[in-house]
Amino acid sequence: MSENTSIRTTAGRGRLYSNVLDTIGDTPIIRINTIPTHGATIYVKAEAFNPAGSIKDRLAVNIIEAAERSGALKPGQTVVEATSGNTGIGLAMVCAQKGYPLVVTMADSFSVERRRLMRMLGAKVILTPRALKGFGMYQKAVALSKAHGWFLASQFETEANADIHEATTAREIMADFDGSRLDYVVTGYGTGGTVSGLGRVLRKERPETKIILTEPANAQLIGSGHAQERDTTNAPTASHPAFEPHPIQGWTPDFIPAVLQEAIDNAYYDDLIPIAGADGIQGAKDLAQKEGIFTGISGGSTFAVALKVAETAPEGSVILCMLPDTGERYLSTPLFDGIAEDMDASEVEISKSTPDAQMD
Ligand code: PMP
Repeated sequence: MSENTSIRTTAGRGRLYSNVLDTIGDTPIIRINTIPTHGATIYVKAEAFNPAGSIKDRLAVNIIEAAERSGALKPGQTVVEATSGNTGIGLAMVCAQKGYPLVVTMADSFSVERRRLMRMLGAKVILTPRALKGFGMYQKAVALSKAHGWFLASQFETEANADIHEATTAREIMADFDGSRLDYVVTGYGTGGTVSGLGRVLRKERPETKIILTEPANAQLIGSGHAQERDTTNAPTASHPAFEPHPIQGWTPDFIPAVLQEAIDNAYYDDLIPIAGADGIQGAKDLAQKEGIFTGISGGSTFAVALKVAETAPEGSVILCMLPDTGERYLSTPLFDGIAEDMDASEVEISKSTPDAQMD
């Protein structure tokens, strides 16, 4: 418990921001205090502090700005992308700020709040049948870009993805742990941009830090050892045979992305630990209810793996766990199963403990 003898004060950020995009990154790394961590110290990097609420804000701004720098994206040109949500929300923010129309393709199995958020930010959301999985929404985005001459953001193949994690996410970890012990970094993968970007920097500058990668227990694409079929542009040509639908939205599409392949080919991870969706949901609930840290299912899953790492790690180990987004994005998903709208028996009892303003 910290000493609590006077009111908290703050000093401002010491600058005025010229636009919302300049607020991306520099997310806080926060220590876990109440949840038992088996003799380790666990920190989480809370990506919900990004302006559109997830780690994908970083990728979104860099995809657009790298394309502006190269001339691949022309002023006013429409941007199109297949995304399960966070990339779409990030792109919608960036495109709104910079004045590009955005079209997102998305399987209808993803949470409805994500669609509405993107539409709120001015994007068009084109739903694709869930039976066609991630591959179907990807094919739709490619087809639309070819048919209309739109700029395809290509988060699963573009160099702009891992580059921004190398230039920002990894640099923040290096700076915040400067002079401090860091034994493990734990992350999952969607595109693989986070792990590939972190791997480039940590392998060179903090080789003693072990990188732990995780994937859903029922969709162990890397764990299966089965290579991904690709075409000459590095894009997948078929759904991966080890894929099964899983509840960890934003993780593990039904193919091994080219961006992730870099981490596999360069051995950017020291261990691969699968996690069941139910354990990830419990991890997110524990973070919310015992630490006051609100994250999504992928953050809860990464945290559950960090706890597993802590169980076998040497006493006193320091572990950093990536939390990609906020739990608020999951109101209509299994994360909120058991979180009731109506009063339960204990709440009714509290209500009845005084005679005022009672429900019928
Ligand atoms: N969790 C969530 C909720 C995500 O949206 C994503 C990105 N799709 C990830 C994790 C994985 O990040 P990356 O794409 O960098 O591997």
